[in-house]
Amino acid sequence: MTATRIDGKAFALKLRELVGASALEFAAAAGRKPGLAVVLIGDDPASQVYVGSKGKATLAANMNSFEHRLPDDTNAADLLALIERLNGDDAVDGILVQLPLPAHLDEQSIISSISPDKDVDGFHVINAGRLSVGQSGFVPCTPLGCMMLLTDRLGDLSGLEAVVVGRSNIVGKPMAQLLLDANATVTIAHSRTKDLPAVVKRADIVVAAVGRPNMIGKDWLKDGATVIDVGINRLPPEPGKEKGKLVGDVAFDEASEVAAAITPVPGGVGPMTIAVLLRNTLVAAYRNADLNVPAHL
Ligand code: NDP
Repeated sequence: MTATRIDGKAFALKLRELVGASALEFAAAAGRKPGLAVVLIGDDPASQVYVGSKGKATLAANMNSFEHRLPDDTNAADLLALIERLNGDDAVDGILVQLPLPAHLDEQSIISSISPDKDVDGFHVINAGRLSVGQSGFVPCTPLGCMMLLTDRLGDLSGLEAVVVGRSNIVGKPMAQLLLDANATVTIAHSRTKDLPAVVKRADIVVAAVGRPNMIGKDWLKDGATVIDVGINRLPPEPGKEKGKLVGDVAFDEASEVAAAITPVPGGVGPMTIAVLLRNTLVAAYRNADLNVPAHL
């Protein structure tokens, strides 16, 4: 079998176009554009790039982008005051604080200060709680993007065996919750799981969110499995090259011999994250303006 390559890049592009068109409809109904505020503390080069591309994507989706770049030594009180101001600003529908934060700032207390109704990253404990009891809130962008790819590919997930490898609050746990809500039978595996290859081998759906290059090989996979690879790992550079290759947690070429469908890295889950962030921001805008969220979102 040669697996179908699940094209997250193309799916994300379509989602961004849909969100962009819907943002114009929102603006016509509400008399203002949706707005996303992104807060970056410090000068971490990767974070600078992420924030820059989020800003561009936000503008391209017909929304306002408000960037707040603060110095590395920003203290908690100043950051909390900024978030408080953004919480009260009617032009701001979504607030995203770029992680990781410098070590002197406590991530949990900063995230908790964001209004849950503007927490478009879905990291606030209230939104985690809403997801776990089945209330509508905001779901973290990466797992929601994985879920969109899965339902697009498989339709109804009822009764399928799903194994999520990784149990972080931002990927593994919400992913498992979404699969459970879709009536899959879900196992969450992690670094203490015994005989991980045998656990993964049971799965009709494998979601790998570990951060270990090419960990899952073809021997771990059931014939015909659908594989979603969240991992982003940079290999050491080959001689003469400045940067190493980006790979996922799944050995793509060999897994493709066994799986029915698989996301590549790059070009799979990665582009979905930012598209879902824009989608979440537009949903926040509709809710904040007391308008019905269109069903297609
Ligand atoms: P974390 O480091 O927070 O979590 C990793 C998880 O993997 C932990 O639960 C850990 O288990 C588990 N794990 C580690 N080693 C093993 C092992 N040998 N066997 C089984 N499980 C193991 O990572 P994140 O969830 O934040 O991210 C995971 C990956 O996804 C990373 O590569 C990250 O770069 C990528 N990512 C990609 C995104 C995208 O947009 N595509 C967005 C977010 C993340 P334990 O809990 O026991 O320590």
